[in-house]
Amino acid sequence: MLSEFDIIRTFFNQPGLGATPGEVTRLGIGDDCALLSVPPGKELALSMDTLVEKIHFPENAPPELLAWRALSVNLSDLAAMGATPVGFTLSLAMPEVNESWLQHFSKGLKNCAEKFQCPLLGGDTTKGPLTMTIQVHGLVSSGQALVRSGARAGDSIYVSGSLGLAALAVIQFDEAQDQTLLEEAFYKPAPRLALGSGAAGLASAGIDISDGLLADLGHVCRASSKGAEIQLADIPVSPSLQKSMSTEEALALALTGGDDYELILTVPPSREGEMETLAHSVDTPLICIGKITDAEGITCFDAFGEQRTFQKSGYQHFNP
Ligand code: ADP
Ligand code: MG
Repeated sequence: MLSEFDIIRTFFNQPGLGATPGEVTRLGIGDDCALLSVPPGKELALSMDTLVEKIHFPENAPPELLAWRALSVNLSDLAAMGATPVGFTLSLAMPEVNESWLQHFSKGLKNCAEKFQCPLLGGDTTKGPLTMTIQVHGLVSSGQALVRSGARAGDSIYVSGSLGLAALAVIQFDEAQDQTLLEEAFYKPAPRLALGSGAAGLASAGIDISDGLLADLGHVCRASSKGAEIQLADIPVSPSLQKSMSTEEALALALTGGDDYELILTVPPSREGEMETLAHSVDTPLICIGKITDAEGITCFDAFGEQRTFQKSGYQHFNP
């Protein structure tokens, strides 16, 4: 039976996953604390997310994909803040020591950590119901973070990528007709790090879409004391949705379904050109869906200029 020390050494402090010392990371796994040095002119951005079995993912979920999701949703928060990853810490509770599970879990973590250059800095390992908490640490130039409160009336609202596929994957979890769709959309959302860090100091506000476009744009509007007008014809509905439902249902899912981890960025009119050039240079689809307004709330317009409302505006824990 592996001791806690063996688990950490074998699975977590392995080459490619455990952080090696550098300019920012002075010390990684192995001591009482990790040590980070924040360079002059930078701020440290922190974010944490917890995944609990049977709440955030089903029982017997593939460990490699779970690891990928746990880290990439955290990285998406760094992207939404305009920050570049430095490293992450992991708190892992598991009911028993299952070596095969740990091997697959750490392999997923390693692949994701290497891909997005965000190594493991430390953590905690305990016995308990399967739960993983990851905290990411990133750097952003001082004063340039994409805070939610920065949107101004007249700013254009941009959305990256396409929306609704992760929500469809969740709906189809039980049927699991298309396993690759599930895997890619739900477990492996691509954190928009290049777009986010490029938008720091360029966009006026930013947020990632974890709860749904309307819900998350609502957070920006509330934090900025502004409203929004959006054009439904411009919403980037995932093309795969059209195959399994009506155009109306697809639109509703793209507006209210969560888990896509695309970015919403608000941009002053004078900087739209720069934003579009940035999106092009980092090879990320980006489309303008509307404008920030002085009025309260979000108003949706269809292609005929008619106002439309949508009921469910995102997923909230503990709400009926
Ligand atoms: P302490 O008892 O001082 O909290 P631990 O035995 O929990 O120390 O951890 C020893 C070292 O291993 C620390 O550097 C800690 O950050 C690291 N560590 C523990 N669990 C993990 C994990 N799941 N992932 C990465 N590092 C871990
Ligand atoms: Mg500890």
